[in-house]
Amino acid sequence: MTTNRGRKHVIRNRMASTGESYVEAARNLKSMKDMGQTAEAVRTQRWKPADSLDVPCPCGGTCEPGEKCDHCHARHRHVGRAPGSLTDVETWADRYACTGCSSAYTLTVVLPGRPWGIAETVVRGGSAEPVVQARVFPGVIHPMMRPEKPEKPAED
Ligand SMILES: [Zn+2]
Ligand SMILES: [Zn+2]
Repeated sequence: MTTNRGRKHVIRNRMASTGESYVEAARNLKSMKDMGQTAEAVRTQRWKPADSLDVPCPCGGTCEPGEKCDHCHARHRHVGRAPGSLTDVETWADRYACTGCSSAYTLTVVLPGRPWGIAETVVRGGSAEPVVQARVFPGVIHPMMRPEKPEKPAED
């Protein structure tokens, strides 16, 4: 695969310039990429809702326009965003609040290329089936997950 060959080339270049081993160079390149994605994920989640519906939504225009409220007929405004799935890292949940009353709702959106974390396939236990497990980027708050803790050796 060309992408794979390209990646190896990048790793070899780094080995040549830093003197790192293949494994070290690959790991450092990966963490640099993760850091870039982390910053992007934090930006996707952390923004202040617009003061008025006349200005573009500060989330970056990745949301739907807010619906009209059934109760007070004002419009809903996009007020927040959080990871919206436990395994699908490009799925976010957008929260909308009415500008006229306390009505609110949540909409699920998929933002390709803007993941909130990394999905990994892990095998738990000896004969267990591999399961997809998502890891949240540092700084991203996942409403259904605990913040990531440093890895501890498994206890028996
Ligand atoms: Zn928005
Ligand atoms: Zn309302």
